[in-house]
Amino acid sequence: MQDPISIDIKNRRIATSPELADACFTCGTCASGCPATNLVPGWDPRKAIRAIALGLEQEVIDSKWPWVCTLCGRCQYACPMGVQLIKTFRTCRILRERDLVPDPLHRGTMMNFERGNNLGIPTDDFLFLLADLGVEMEEDEKQPCPGFYVPVDKEGANIIVTVNSKEPFAEPDDMKFWWRIFYAAKEDWTISSTNWEGVNWGLFSGDDENWKIQVGRVLENARRLKVKTILYPE
Ligand code: SF4
Ligand code: SF4
Repeated sequence: MQDPISIDIKNRRIATSPELADACFTCGTCASGCPATNLVPGWDPRKAIRAIALGLEQEVIDSKWPWVCTLCGRCQYACPMGVQLIKTFRTCRILRERDLVPDPLHRGTMMNFERGNNLGIPTDDFLFLLADLGVEMEEDEKQPCPGFYVPVDKEGANIIVTVNSKEPFAEPDDMKFWWRIFYAAKEDWTISSTNWEGVNWGLFSGDDENWKIQVGRVLENARRLKVKTILYPE
Protein backbone atom coordinates (compact mmCIF):
# COMPACT_ATOMS: atom_id res chain seq x y z
CA MET A 1 0.00 0.00 0.00
CA GLN A 2 1.32 3.46 -0.86
CA ASP A 3 1.84 5.92 1.95
CA PRO A 4 -1.37 7.98 1.87
CA ILE A 5 0.24 10.91 3.70
CA SER A 6 2.79 13.31 2.27
CA ILE A 7 4.13 16.66 3.30
CA ASP A 8 3.43 19.74 1.22
CA ILE A 9 5.95 22.22 2.63
CA LYS A 10 5.25 24.91 0.04
CA ASN A 11 1.61 25.14 0.99
CA ARG A 12 2.32 24.25 4.62
CA ARG A 13 -0.09 21.37 4.75
CA ILE A 14 -0.25 17.62 5.08
CA ALA A 15 -1.32 16.23 1.74
CA THR A 16 -3.60 13.27 2.23
CA SER A 17 -4.98 10.98 -0.38
CA PRO A 18 -8.37 9.29 0.02
CA GLU A 19 -6.40 6.12 0.72
CA LEU A 20 -5.84 7.34 4.26
CA ALA A 21 -9.52 7.14 5.07
CA ASP A 22 -9.59 3.66 3.58
CA ALA A 23 -6.41 2.58 5.33
CA CYS A 24 -7.38 3.54 8.86
CA PHE A 25 -10.41 1.58 9.95
CA THR A 26 -10.49 3.13 13.46
CA CYS A 27 -9.58 -0.09 15.23
CA GLY A 28 -7.91 1.87 18.04
CA THR A 29 -4.84 -0.37 18.31
CA CYS A 30 -2.65 2.73 18.08
CA ALA A 31 -4.48 4.46 20.93
CA SER A 32 -4.48 1.46 23.22
CA GLY A 33 -0.68 1.22 23.37
CA CYS A 34 0.08 4.94 23.25
CA PRO A 35 1.68 6.43 26.37
CA ALA A 36 0.45 9.90 25.41
CA THR A 37 -3.22 9.04 25.00
CA ASN A 38 -5.33 11.10 27.40
CA LEU A 39 -2.53 13.56 28.13
CA VAL A 40 -4.39 16.05 25.98
CA PRO A 41 -8.12 15.77 26.64
CA GLY A 42 -9.95 14.75 23.49
CA TRP A 43 -6.89 13.54 21.58
CA ASP A 44 -5.29 10.20 20.90
CA PRO A 45 -3.51 8.91 17.78
CA ARG A 46 -6.62 7.35 16.31
CA LYS A 47 -8.56 10.60 16.61
CA ALA A 48 -5.66 12.59 15.16
CA ILE A 49 -5.38 10.28 12.14
CA ARG A 50 -9.13 10.35 11.61
CA ALA A 51 -9.18 14.15 11.89
CA ILE A 52 -6.48 14.39 9.20
CA ALA A 53 -8.31 11.89 6.99
CA LEU A 54 -11.40 14.09 7.29
CA GLY A 55 -9.50 17.21 6.23
CA LEU A 56 -9.09 18.68 9.71
CA GLU A 57 -5.30 18.68 9.53
CA GLN A 58 -4.95 22.29 10.65
CA GLU A 59 -6.85 21.46 13.84
CA VAL A 60 -4.29 18.74 14.58
CA ILE A 61 -1.35 21.02 13.73
CA ASP A 62 -2.73 23.75 16.00
CA SER A 63 -3.43 21.36 18.87
CA LYS A 64 -1.08 20.27 21.63
CA TRP A 65 -1.34 16.68 20.44
CA PRO A 66 1.78 16.50 18.20
CA TRP A 67 3.85 17.89 21.10
CA VAL A 68 2.81 15.33 23.70
CA CYS A 69 3.33 12.48 21.24
CA THR A 70 6.82 11.22 22.10
CA LEU A 71 7.40 9.86 18.57
CA CYS A 72 8.13 6.53 20.23
CA GLY A 73 6.57 4.63 17.32
CA ARG A 74 4.53 2.04 19.24
CA CYS A 75 1.38 3.01 17.36
CA GLN A 76 3.00 2.64 13.97
CA TYR A 77 4.55 -0.68 14.90
CA ALA A 78 1.16 -2.02 15.99
CA CYS A 79 -1.07 -0.52 13.28
CA PRO A 80 -2.47 -3.40 11.22
CA MET A 81 -2.86 -1.12 8.20
CA GLY A 82 0.65 0.30 8.10
CA VAL A 83 -0.44 3.91 8.63
CA GLN A 84 2.65 6.15 8.96
CA LEU A 85 1.73 7.71 12.29
CA ILE A 86 5.21 8.91 13.30
CA LYS A 87 5.76 10.66 10.01
CA THR A 88 2.32 12.23 10.27
CA PHE A 89 2.77 13.60 13.78
CA ARG A 90 6.29 14.84 13.11
CA THR A 91 4.99 16.55 9.98
CA CYS A 92 2.49 18.36 12.20
CA ARG A 93 5.46 19.73 14.15
CA ILE A 94 7.22 20.82 10.96
CA LEU A 95 4.11 22.66 9.83
CA ARG A 96 3.66 24.59 13.07
CA GLU A 97 4.71 28.24 12.76
CA ARG A 98 8.13 28.52 14.45
CA ASP A 99 7.02 31.17 16.93
CA LEU A 100 4.24 28.83 18.06
CA VAL A 101 6.57 25.89 18.74
CA PRO A 102 6.75 25.15 22.51
CA ASP A 103 9.23 27.69 23.79
CA PRO A 104 11.93 25.51 25.45
CA LEU A 105 12.26 23.35 22.33
CA HIS A 106 12.47 26.28 19.95
CA ARG A 107 14.79 28.23 22.24
CA GLY A 108 17.10 25.21 22.65
CA THR A 109 17.19 24.66 18.89
CA MET A 110 18.11 28.28 18.23
CA MET A 111 20.64 28.33 21.08
CA ASN A 112 22.33 25.32 19.55
CA PHE A 113 22.39 27.03 16.17
CA GLU A 114 23.93 30.18 17.63
CA ARG A 115 26.29 28.78 20.29
CA GLY A 116 26.85 25.11 19.46
CA ASN A 117 24.89 23.56 22.31
CA ASN A 118 21.28 23.61 23.46
CA LEU A 119 21.96 25.44 26.71
CA GLY A 120 24.46 28.00 25.47
CA ILE A 121 27.34 26.82 27.68
CA PRO A 122 30.44 28.92 26.85
CA THR A 123 33.46 27.03 25.52
CA ASP A 124 35.76 28.18 28.33
CA ASP A 125 33.33 26.96 31.01
CA PHE A 126 32.96 23.63 29.24
CA LEU A 127 36.71 23.09 28.93
CA PHE A 128 37.28 24.11 32.53
CA LEU A 129 34.65 21.61 33.67
CA LEU A 130 36.16 18.78 31.60
CA ALA A 131 39.60 19.43 33.09
CA ASP A 132 38.16 19.59 36.59
CA LEU A 133 36.17 16.37 36.24
CA GLY A 134 39.22 14.65 34.79
CA VAL A 135 41.19 15.48 37.94
CA GLU A 136 38.29 14.27 40.10
CA MET A 137 38.31 10.94 38.30
CA GLU A 138 42.05 10.60 38.52
CA GLU A 139 41.99 11.23 42.27
CA ASP A 140 38.67 9.53 43.09
CA GLU A 141 38.90 8.02 46.58
CA LYS A 142 37.01 4.83 45.82
CA GLN A 143 37.85 4.23 42.16
CA PRO A 144 40.89 6.28 41.18
CA CYS A 145 41.89 6.34 37.51
CA PRO A 146 45.61 7.13 37.47
CA GLY A 147 46.66 9.13 34.44
CA PHE A 148 43.09 9.92 33.37
CA TYR A 149 42.28 13.18 31.60
CA VAL A 150 39.61 14.21 29.11
CA PRO A 151 41.19 14.27 25.65
CA VAL A 152 39.84 17.35 23.87
CA ASP A 153 40.28 17.79 20.10
CA LYS A 154 42.58 14.78 19.85
CA GLU A 155 43.39 14.20 16.22
CA GLY A 156 43.20 10.62 14.96
CA ALA A 157 41.33 9.22 17.98
CA ASN A 158 39.22 6.15 17.48
CA ILE A 159 35.94 7.61 18.82
CA ILE A 160 34.51 11.11 19.09
CA VAL A 161 31.90 11.51 21.81
CA THR A 162 29.02 13.96 21.68
CA VAL A 163 27.55 15.32 24.91
CA ASN A 164 24.03 16.02 26.14
CA SER A 165 24.33 19.64 27.34
CA LYS A 166 22.16 18.94 30.37
CA GLU A 167 25.06 16.90 31.75
CA PRO A 168 27.69 19.65 31.92
CA PHE A 169 24.91 22.03 32.93
CA ALA A 170 23.29 20.06 35.74
CA GLU A 171 24.60 16.48 36.06
CA PRO A 172 28.31 16.56 35.20
CA ASP A 173 29.08 13.32 37.03
CA ASP A 174 26.91 11.45 34.50
CA MET A 175 29.62 11.98 31.88
CA LYS A 176 31.99 9.93 34.01
CA PHE A 177 30.04 6.72 33.37
CA TRP A 178 31.22 6.67 29.75
CA TRP A 179 34.66 7.90 30.65
CA ARG A 180 35.15 5.07 33.12
CA ILE A 181 34.28 2.56 30.39
CA PHE A 182 36.80 4.21 28.05
CA TYR A 183 39.42 4.19 30.75
CA ALA A 184 38.87 0.51 31.58
CA ALA A 185 38.87 -0.42 27.89
CA LYS A 186 41.94 1.73 27.16
CA GLU A 187 39.88 3.35 24.42
CA ASP A 188 41.34 6.09 22.25
CA TRP A 189 38.64 8.78 22.32
CA THR A 190 38.07 12.49 22.20
CA ILE A 191 35.53 15.31 22.68
CA SER A 192 35.36 18.34 20.42
CA SER A 193 35.88 21.70 22.10
CA THR A 194 33.11 23.23 19.97
CA ASN A 195 29.75 22.07 18.60
CA TRP A 196 29.83 19.05 20.90
CA GLU A 197 26.07 18.88 21.49
CA GLY A 198 24.68 15.37 21.02
CA VAL A 199 20.96 16.06 21.39
CA ASN A 200 19.35 17.22 18.20
CA TRP A 201 16.35 19.34 19.12
CA GLY A 202 15.81 20.18 15.47
CA LEU A 203 14.47 16.63 15.22
CA PHE A 204 12.03 17.14 18.06
CA SER A 205 10.99 20.70 17.24
CA GLY A 206 10.28 19.90 13.59
CA ASP A 207 13.04 22.22 12.42
CA ASP A 208 14.61 20.16 9.64
CA GLU A 209 17.07 22.85 8.62
CA ASN A 210 18.60 22.99 12.09
CA TRP A 211 18.43 19.20 12.35
CA LYS A 212 20.62 19.02 9.26
CA ILE A 213 22.99 21.73 10.48
CA GLN A 214 23.46 19.92 13.80
CA VAL A 215 24.23 16.60 12.12
CA GLY A 216 26.62 18.40 9.75
CA ARG A 217 28.51 19.96 12.64
CA VAL A 218 29.04 16.62 14.36
CA LEU A 219 30.26 15.15 11.08
CA GLU A 220 32.54 18.12 10.52
CA ASN A 221 34.11 17.61 13.96
CA ALA A 222 34.81 13.98 13.10
CA ARG A 223 36.34 14.94 9.78
CA ARG A 224 38.42 17.77 11.23
CA LEU A 225 39.86 15.45 13.87
CA LYS A 226 40.12 12.49 11.47
CA VAL A 227 37.95 10.27 13.67
CA LYS A 228 35.99 7.48 12.04
CA THR A 229 33.48 6.61 14.77
CA ILE A 230 30.91 8.99 16.28
CA LEU A 231 29.28 8.09 19.58
CA TYR A 232 25.91 9.55 20.45
CA PRO A 233 25.33 8.63 24.09
CA GLU A 234 21.75 9.97 23.79
S1 SF4 B 1 -4.02 1.31 14.51
FE1 SF4 B 1 -3.96 2.06 12.39
S2 SF4 B 1 -5.88 1.41 11.50
FE2 SF4 B 1 -6.12 1.25 13.72
S3 SF4 B 1 -6.98 3.23 14.35
FE3 SF4 B 1 -4.79 3.42 14.52
S4 SF4 B 1 -4.12 4.30 12.57
FE4 SF4 B 1 -6.20 3.48 12.27
S1 SF4 C 1 4.47 7.69 18.49
FE1 SF4 C 1 3.16 9.18 19.56
S2 SF4 C 1 1.07 8.56 19.04
FE2 SF4 C 1 2.40 6.82 18.58
S3 SF4 C 1 2.40 5.54 20.44
FE3 SF4 C 1 4.16 6.92 20.60
S4 SF4 C 1 3.40 8.69 21.74
FE4 SF4 C 1 1.59 7.58 20.98
